[in-house]
Amino acid sequence: MPGEACGVFAAYSTTQRVSHLIYFGLFALQHRGQESAGIATSDGETVTVFKDLGLVPQVFDEPALAGLDGHLGIGHTRYSTMGSTTWANAQPAHRQVGSTSVALGHNGNLTNTAELAAALGVSEATTDSDLMAEGLARAIDDGRSDARGLELALMGVAPTWQGAFSLVLMDQGRIVGLRDPHGFRPLCLGSLPDGGWVIASESAALDLVGARFVREVAAGEMLVIDAGGPRSYHPFPEVKPGLCLFEFVYFARPDTHMYGRSIHAARHEMGRRLCEEHPVDADVVVPVPESGIPAAQGYAAASGIPYTDGLVKNRYVGRTFIEPTQLLRDQGIRLKLNPIPETLRGRRVVLVDDSIVRGSTTKKLVSMVREAGAAEVHLRISSPPYRWPCFYGMDTSDRDTLIAARLGIEEIRHHLGADSLGYLSLEALLEATGVADAGFCTACLSGRYPAEVPVTADKFQLERR
Ligand code: AMP
Repeated sequence: MPGEACGVFAAYSTTQRVSHLIYFGLFALQHRGQESAGIATSDGETVTVFKDLGLVPQVFDEPALAGLDGHLGIGHTRYSTMGSTTWANAQPAHRQVGSTSVALGHNGNLTNTAELAAALGVSEATTDSDLMAEGLARAIDDGRSDARGLELALMGVAPTWQGAFSLVLMDQGRIVGLRDPHGFRPLCLGSLPDGGWVIASESAALDLVGARFVREVAAGEMLVIDAGGPRSYHPFPEVKPGLCLFEFVYFARPDTHMYGRSIHAARHEMGRRLCEEHPVDADVVVPVPESGIPAAQGYAAASGIPYTDGLVKNRYVGRTFIEPTQLLRDQGIRLKLNPIPETLRGRRVVLVDDSIVRGSTTKKLVSMVREAGAAEVHLRISSPPYRWPCFYGMDTSDRDTLIAARLGIEEIRHHLGADSLGYLSLEALLEATGVADAGFCTACLSGRYPAEVPVTADKFQLERR
């Protein structure tokens, strides 16, 4: 399975320390990245950074949070879409430039890293986030620094970045939320009861810290928040928005809203449409937990076939992509999912999941369900075949690993060992979002890339240079 991009969070409070608040914000965004977590805070004078490899509660304890002083800060949970899993690659990235201290957390993937690295003359940089921090530090150094050093530097340097970036940034006195002109990755603004503000990858993270959803940070918008409240800038030429459609399919939490639409409701509708497009005579509808649950409920509701649990997920194991190597992924599945033979035995099963990317997990699931006694396994997928690599924040830049790039649908069915296989069409998926015209990137499903992609892009391009 591929990895997904990261979670970002920022807070500016007028009355309280923010380290605990950011901790809980990150806790709500754990699903977006499980390799490392970090928080940077400022008391107005000094920026303090604490980051490490591991899940949010593994990285932070009370003493660590107590050491993060200040009323403003940013946080990050990371899955490596670029570069390897090392402490140095954990975020926030930090730079000290004279008396200015800046920190940055990034969700997304730049597509012009080679050019940026060459322009900066850096060889040691291994992540695009580090390149951004370096470019930003140089821009601040360029003599553009004044009381508004960070935002002026950003206005200058952000237009040189290409690809996907939903960023949170800070210096000693302000936080910034910045979204690339396509808005590939989500970002939203919330208000705190004390008059403060938070910025988060997903609205579900606002709920957890008691913030009220205000609005999404617009594609191409830079939102600066300090004691004067939020100020909006637009550093980029305007282009058509292209939020990652896979946020609706898989990435985002079901209790999040995007483009004003409930992700859960959209996934339920995907299941209904899937049933309309690929009906089948069967005894039970079984979800692959947790990603397939809302779509399986929709499929069951539309078909009248009873919905039942057939696979149990161990809640205390992260998604299997927590381990980036294939060997560890292979072992991971048994830790994660176990069948319930009593609900499967002798039954014709509609097995519903949101997507097939590499096909390795799905193949094991199908055989697990069969071994548990299912008479037939009809696989239904609530998105179209994933045929094209993503260069905008999802770890699928190697086309050879995508099963639908290599095989036709009947071949995939045969490879996975299912009795039948049905994918939702792109048209029905877009309609199911309920906001089809709001603007989506569908590159992984359609091959239509809204922004230039690197010719030789791959995950370790910078490390090999
Ligand atoms: P596979 O059969 O190995 O392609 O894995 C399919 C499973 O991966 C499905 O359960 C999906 O929900 C899940 N999945 C889809 N996209 C991602 C992703 N970016 N990271 C991790 N898992 C994913």
